[in-house]
Amino acid sequence: MLAKDITVNAIRYEILTIDSSLRWDKDVFKSVHESLPYFVNGFVLARFRQDGLEIEHHSHDASAKILEDVQALIFRISESFRDAEERVFISHAGLDLIADKDPYVSLLEDGRIVPTGRGKFVYSGDFLVALKAFDRMIQDLAFSLDGIEELYPTTVNTQTLLDAGYLSSFPHHAFFAAPAHLDAKSLSVLSAGDVLTRKDREATVQHLGFPGEILAPTVCYHCFEARRDLKIKKGVVTALNKCHRHEPVNVNSLQRLTTYWMREIIIFDNVEQVQAALDKILEWTVWLLSELNVSFKVVSANDPFFADSSSDKRLFQNAYELKKEIKIPVFGGNWISVGSFNNHQSSIVTKFNILDESGNSVTSGCAGWGLERLLYGVFSHLGAGLEDWPQSAKTLLKI
Ligand SMILES: [Zn+2]
Repeated sequence: MLAKDITVNAIRYEILTIDSSLRWDKDVFKSVHESLPYFVNGFVLARFRQDGLEIEHHSHDASAKILEDVQALIFRISESFRDAEERVFISHAGLDLIADKDPYVSLLEDGRIVPTGRGKFVYSGDFLVALKAFDRMIQDLAFSLDGIEELYPTTVNTQTLLDAGYLSSFPHHAFFAAPAHLDAKSLSVLSAGDVLTRKDREATVQHLGFPGEILAPTVCYHCFEARRDLKIKKGVVTALNKCHRHEPVNVNSLQRLTTYWMREIIIFDNVEQVQAALDKILEWTVWLLSELNVSFKVVSANDPFFADSSSDKRLFQNAYELKKEIKIPVFGGNWISVGSFNNHQSSIVTKFNILDESGNSVTSGCAGWGLERLLYGVFSHLGAGLEDWPQSAKTLLKI
């Protein structure tokens, strides 16, 4: 028995050398890393090096097959990035990171954030005070653009995410929500406590029904879903909601969560007006972070993508600067994206058959701020407790 366990759990290593003609940098690492658990059974971890990749796994597959699959994966991902270099539009050097201890650790230690699972937390104390303060600021910005506020449910219809193309680009991020299968046997199986033990996990799935809903991955899909097949007023909409993304790897601290809060501002108008509103919103964000003396940079962005979804979308986004992101350095030196500014043009409204009041075409755009990431960036600069923050920052945020 012991020998068998050792065989089952034995860790194997694969080492790949990367062809120097391939793009092999942080962006490519991230996409490859997210895809690896789906291509290598029993994936444990990956180490990315300048000229190669080391993989630890428990798979029983032949090394040659694993290496061939991973080489093909790397080639596809690297090729799709070939012309999509990040461009920096604006940068600002604020305070050096003053926290001498990771604010994430301080927040955990005194219970202001409490983990309740993988990549999800309960918030209280001054972390919550700061989260609400930033949210109010963005909400006020939306109101200053004559925005209306909406309140959304937790899930989005699976069909909506199919129509929007979300599932074809990000199948690995989806949390499918399924009820019990419609039969008495499934109910009795699911109500038995031991069915959820590790041993029976696969069997449990057979007693679930069709996942007709998916935990919402963004705020704006709710907004589009509510306007499907309608003639709508042009203008601005804002909402705060939870977003959910299954992250197969790299769930750590507040940098990457599976459930997080996002405030979005969504714009429906002609394409120039949408861009003008997005520019104004970006300008405001730049102003806010500069006032807080937080370092940041505004960069061109591409949606991260999964395995073999198209590189065309990425190249198109970059060529037309349709997506910009604002990044902040956090404790430890990583730059994380805390907000994005997206001009969808007619790509989403067409899928949802949304027209303006007179039945003419309309376009859309959205800006979204991941509040936990924004806060982690600000806490990394200003200190892990509000008592450390300069009074000017608190006055600005009305804390
Ligand atoms: Zn959005």
